Amino acid sequence: MKANERDQALYAVRKATKAGILPCLDGAIPCVDCGKPAREYDHRNYKEKLAVEPVCHSCNLKRGSAIGWSPKILAGNPLRLDLGALKHRRAGLGFSIARVAKRARLPYWRVAAVFHGRSQAPGTIKEICRALGLDTDAVWLDGNGE
Ligand SMILES: [Zn+2]
Repeated sequence: MKANERDQALYAVRKATKAGILPCLDGAIPCVDCGKPAREYDHRNYKEKLAVEPVCHSCNLKRGSAIGWSPKILAGNPLRLDLGALKHRRAGLGFSIARVAKRARLPYWRVAAVFHGRSQAPGTIKEICRALGLDTDAVWLDGNGE
C-alpha cells in the first residue's frame, strides 16, 4: 500500500460527508459491530475510498488494519453511495433528469436508471456528481462499473 492511499481515502470520506453522500456520524447511526453510536468510518481497503462502515472507536480498534482485507461484504452496503443525496441536489437545483443528462453528457436512460435506483454504475454516478457540482473525489470508483 502506498503511504498516501490511506490519506486519500480519509480525505474522500471527509468530502463525502460534507457533500451529504455519506451520513454525518452525529450519534444517530449505530456501530455495525456493537450497536453503540458510530463515530468513525472504517475502511477495510483504502483503495476503495468510500467502501466504509460506521463503527464506534473501540470496535474500529478491534477491527485493526485495513490492509489485505477483501470487502466482499460491502456489496449492497447502503452507505456505499447515497443516491438520496444526488436526488436532493438535483431537486435543489431544479434540474430535470433530461437536464442532468445534458450537463453530464450522458444518455437520458442511463441517468434515469441511476435516479430510479436501478443502477449504481460508478462511472455514471461520477459524471452525475460532476454535473451537479458534487465533489467527484467523493465518489467511490471500484472499477466494476463502466
Ligand atoms: Zn462498536
